Amino acid sequence: MKKHNFNSGPSILPQEVLAKAARAVLDFNGIGLSILEIGHRSSWFVDVIEEARSLVKELMQLSDEYEVLFLHGGATTQFMQVPMNLLDDGETAAYCDNGIWGSKAAKEASLFGNVNVVASSKDKDHTYINKGFAIPANSKYLHLTTNNTVEGTQWHRFPVTDIPLVADMSSDIFSRPMNFNQFSLIYAGAQKNMGAAGVNLLVVKKTVLGKIKRPIPVIMDYKKHIDANSLMNTPPVFAVYVALLTLRWIKKEGGLKEMERRSNEKANLLYSTIDSLPIFTSHVVKEDRSNMNAVFFLTHPEQEAPFLELCKQEGMIGVKGYRTVGGIRVSMYNALPLESVQAFCDLAKQFAAKRG
Ligand SMILES: *Cc1c(COP(=O)(O)O)cnc(C)c1O
Repeated sequence: MKKHNFNSGPSILPQEVLAKAARAVLDFNGIGLSILEIGHRSSWFVDVIEEARSLVKELMQLSDEYEVLFLHGGATTQFMQVPMNLLDDGETAAYCDNGIWGSKAAKEASLFGNVNVVASSKDKDHTYINKGFAIPANSKYLHLTTNNTVEGTQWHRFPVTDIPLVADMSSDIFSRPMNFNQFSLIYAGAQKNMGAAGVNLLVVKKTVLGKIKRPIPVIMDYKKHIDANSLMNTPPVFAVYVALLTLRWIKKEGGLKEMERRSNEKANLLYSTIDSLPIFTSHVVKEDRSNMNAVFFLTHPEQEAPFLELCKQEGMIGVKGYRTVGGIRVSMYNALPLESVQAFCDLAKQFAAKRG
């Protein structure tokens, strides 16, 4: 049976990316060696990471003020690495708490300096994005999570401020064009929308670095990674290669504009179907809904188990909501085809017709 992969992360990748990655494990570019057994300083791998870095700059249309790095770990590593590099003892950083990931990021930052939560949607179970809040002028930076993977909200407009913006884009990176130059630092774990687990993308404006007194362990120091062209030590070579294949795929398919067009089409179909069926309830404020992760509930909670069972029977993978939120979550990352959303919507209608 055909599987429909709605996993929230690690998640669906384009079939051709998987095929090329599989081939490279056996024989990389016809050199007679696996991607897993060549040195990271060989010209073979240096070409991989350089092309990946330059594709990121091109797709995001970054100015020359920015550096692109591929670093070890997941986004959770960046929760501490960002304040370790940007926030000195006694200084204050502003954080937006719009869900589980943003609140974890704020907690980690408090190990390095003061954290001021300037916006929180906790009062309404993170079903909306704060707007028009004040950001104190003494803030070293403002941290926000562009897409709240667990709660199903997404920032569609960003605060206009002189305070440097820092964004966790783990779950909507490369899903839409925007002015990326409005951010001073962007990070994203690769496994949601740009590849395999194990590597972080980091985009940083050079001018925000080197401003704190704290000594930083070399492996955590962004400046040292920049000096080493993202090859300070052995990077997660295979994850970087899968990211390169995914970046090439995004460019070939038409870039971020095309990713956004597809994403709008999928999200419109999903949300309009859910809204038309009274057996489903969605709590997220409509204008703040995520195009990547749709979170909703069965109006009658006792119907959740049978609905999930039906999804399982029909090959719909990963649609159970996050453990602390419950309900249903349908993730629609770049590589998810429209047909999968169509298949889910057909199943939802079929279920409603029987049980509604
Ligand atoms: C998944 C996710 C994380 C955590 O990523 P790890 O790679 O598991 O550390 C952080 N932020 C956001 C927005 C996420 O979606």
